[in-house]
Amino acid sequence: MKCPVCGAVYRPTKGSRETGKDEELVSISTSSPSPTCRRCKADLSDLFHIHDHAIWYHRQALHLLSQKLYPEAATYNNQALVLYYSNADFHTLAGKLSALQGEWREAILSWQQALKFDPQNAIASNCLQMIELMTRN
Ligand SMILES: [Zn+2]
Repeated sequence: MKCPVCGAVYRPTKGSRETGKDEELVSISTSSPSPTCRRCKADLSDLFHIHDHAIWYHRQALHLLSQKLYPEAATYNNQALVLYYSNADFHTLAGKLSALQGEWREAILSWQQALKFDPQNAIASNCLQMIELMTRN
């Protein structure tokens, strides 16, 4: 997630440090009632609200996936993508849901998107490699 004003990158959900990226990572206090960008002081509460909403849709999608309700899960996950398109996890799940419904072309596109936003995404790259092996034979 990026500050829309100055482009500073926020990673509020993951605790693990990522290295080797040239983007500046800015920590943010999520406990404060109105989060602000540390660099440009912009009010980011709306952005965080949208982000929370997207995560909520994504969690609903995961829940529906566990109940094998794939089309319903895809609907929720698409809502998450509308709100937060640059989240690689959402694209990874979209790919999985497409694959489970036999829509391999969509699945490949989703995993490629996931890798675009997160080149280290193991699930997406593994799935694409698997498909490549399958189509080679
Ligand atoms: Zn900013």
